[in-house]
Amino acid sequence: IPEVDRRWSWVEIDLNAIRHNASTVKHRLNPGCRLMAVVKADAYGHGAVQVAKTALNSGAEYLGVATVDEAIALREAYVNAPVLVLGEPPASAIPLLLAYKIMPSIYTAEFAIRYAEAADAFGLAAPFHLKVNTGMNRIGVRYDEVVEFARQISFHRALDLQGTFTHFATADCPGTIDFDRQVKRFAEAVNALRAAGVNPGIVHAANSAAAIRYPEVQLDMVRLGIALYGFYPCPEAYPLIDLKPAMAVKARITEVKTVPVGEGVSYGLHYRSPGAVKVCTLPIGYADGLRRGLSGRTDVLLGGKRFHQVGNICMDQCMFEVNLRQRHNLDPQIGDEVVVVGSQGEAAVTIDAMAETLGTIQHEVAIGFGCSRLPRMYI
Ligand code: PLP
Repeated sequence: IPEVDRRWSWVEIDLNAIRHNASTVKHRLNPGCRLMAVVKADAYGHGAVQVAKTALNSGAEYLGVATVDEAIALREAYVNAPVLVLGEPPASAIPLLLAYKIMPSIYTAEFAIRYAEAADAFGLAAPFHLKVNTGMNRIGVRYDEVVEFARQISFHRALDLQGTFTHFATADCPGTIDFDRQVKRFAEAVNALRAAGVNPGIVHAANSAAAIRYPEVQLDMVRLGIALYGFYPCPEAYPLIDLKPAMAVKARITEVKTVPVGEGVSYGLHYRSPGAVKVCTLPIGYADGLRRGLSGRTDVLLGGKRFHQVGNICMDQCMFEVNLRQRHNLDPQIGDEVVVVGSQGEAAVTIDAMAETLGTIQHEVAIGFGCSRLPRMYI
């Protein structure tokens, strides 16, 4: 019995939307600029292998992940494109990098030397990208220390610098003072490497927001995450590009009942029946990514109409009310399909709205659903 038939709640991924988003961004890139599909965290919950294959067929040439295991999962699914781990893995993972042809990002000389020595011992090259810290202060060699770093590691002939990159802290924010400073520092670092006779390889900096908002920082490659999945990284991006969300979350009604006026629903009984409502139960809860903080603050769609989720969202279930006084001619039944995220007719419930309600970003909400125990279906 397929996974989706064992549970009445699931995530639906529209690979056509991924295709659309990848090729739409690709068409906006300057000539010669490569597209990296960032498929870490199981492609932000959309499924790394399926998204990687779709993106590679739609203009992407490079893949970005966060961990060695994420990279290995791609290789084991016969994905042969260059894969960059966007951080420096533990040195104990070096044999896996070499065996699976996975590139690390490097910013410590200790790792670089151990990587080079291991590659040398096998008669292999040790390709990598150099991570430069231009102001986000997360990881990276500081922008004004890259030449010294290159000098420290230059005696290792196996090391093969394939790319040099930085990451922006504020590409999705209004105001550009900090962003401009990072751009300037990165240019200084790359120029200094060149002046020292080091070829920086593929030079890249832009995430989704930067790739869409600032064509001048597309450089040799952009690293596309959130926009690949159809989310606008910031309000400023809305007029600039047409993106289609790829993720929907659906469930089927497991119970329908009338709750007497004044009786409560769910833990704490915070919601009280006003009468003339049917309370419907869905088998999806916060263990499936439907965050408890959304309790009473999100809607679901049934028959193309919006209905309020009511009562506390439980670990595995939640409830919504169908108000019988509204003229919707709906008689909800066990087994009816309900949209928790996505659209039905003209109505839509979006991850953007949930993220706003929760005071977070779309990445976190999408990953919450997509990396949960919900089965995933591709359409
Ligand atoms: N590059 C790096 C180094 C990242 O860490 C990320 C994601 O966090 C991305 C690119 C993609 O960013 P976005 O999802 O905003 O496009």
